[in-house]
Amino acid sequence: MNKPHEAGSAPSPIPQPIRADGAGGPDYGPRDILRDFENPDMLVPPVTDSGLLPNLKFSFSDAHMQLNQGGWSREITVRDLPIATTLAGVNMYLTPGGVRELHWHQQAEWAYMIWGTARVTAIDSNGRNFLADIGPGDLWYFPAGLPHSIQGLADGCEFLLVFDDGHFSDLNTLSISDWFAHTPKDVLSVNFGVPTQAFARIPDDQVYIYQGEVPGSLESQAVSSPYGTVPLSFKHRLLAQPPLKTPGGSVRIVDSSNFPIAKTIAAALVEIEPGAMRELHWHPNNDEWQYYLTGQGRMTVFGGNGVARTFDYRAGDVGYVPFAFGHYIQNTGSEILWFLEMFKSDRFADLSLNQWMALTPPALVSSNLQVGPDLLSALRKEKWPVVKYPGFSYYPKK
Ligand code: MN
Ligand code: MN
Repeated sequence: MNKPHEAGSAPSPIPQPIRADGAGGPDYGPRDILRDFENPDMLVPPVTDSGLLPNLKFSFSDAHMQLNQGGWSREITVRDLPIATTLAGVNMYLTPGGVRELHWHQQAEWAYMIWGTARVTAIDSNGRNFLADIGPGDLWYFPAGLPHSIQGLADGCEFLLVFDDGHFSDLNTLSISDWFAHTPKDVLSVNFGVPTQAFARIPDDQVYIYQGEVPGSLESQAVSSPYGTVPLSFKHRLLAQPPLKTPGGSVRIVDSSNFPIAKTIAAALVEIEPGAMRELHWHPNNDEWQYYLTGQGRMTVFGGNGVARTFDYRAGDVGYVPFAFGHYIQNTGSEILWFLEMFKSDRFADLSLNQWMALTPPALVSSNLQVGPDLLSALRKEKWPVVKYPGFSYYPKK
């Protein structure tokens, strides 16, 4: 059993719900210490946290794993994170040759390749087709209702899928095997103009993911359409895009302005160095759905009326920010924090607290906040999405 922690003494290696001023007291258990290690700002919230905000975090590590020959998937939807109504996310791995079968759904699909490569196929309603290989840092976007498939190439691959409806489930889509299995064979025979024996060995239920053979080159698999290929590419190379760099990190923005087919999902790929911060800001278009790719950090969300709540995130977690709520994200670890900000929108948009103040008459800002020239003269008219205060560290040496 842990001894009570005395205010002012060296912190115990076991985290305790005790603030530096002595507020709180030890937790002798029962407790989940691994969780407490991962959530230091839940155990000891910043003193500025207050009021009611719903849960804004869910980890893929707490999500059900669908294991198939050929790969796995897990998803975070409103069933797991009830506030996340605008977008849903799926984390998927495909083995070399593993196939997410031919299917379609009512929602648009946006994807980010985390590692490895995949071959994707699709067509549109005019019979124009699409075939591409997707590497690390690349995206694809399939408009709602268009049929598609994904196959792992030589090393397999892992990726994030994002859908423009929080109620989506990847286990509830329309798939080719499912339709065949639930159509009389004489109907299939008439439809394709072949004898029913042609369907003797079709799967008797939805396949979802299966183990296939690693396909040959892109060229070897090309299928020529008399109607040509899709006019707007379904692929975009996000990581290859030149970033906006600021002291402390970088941002790459992708929306329908530079990836025209992506009309319902916009994103920013953000890099935050240790000790740096995604600045205080908010978004004027929609809720924000986040996926943490590397590192660890914390986000405080401000909801007005004295409400603010802090959550800790690490690689593999999903975060969420309701529409227009203020927020910032600090890298509290020793490695670079990479994460995706996602929006159900045709455009990325954010409001910078710093820039807003810089573009407002200084006398007004000064009288409103009771601040002087030391702050007013430091305000920036240019937007810096990521900031770093020189010499600042979250964990000063003892
Ligand atoms: Mn899909
Ligand atoms: Mn944001």
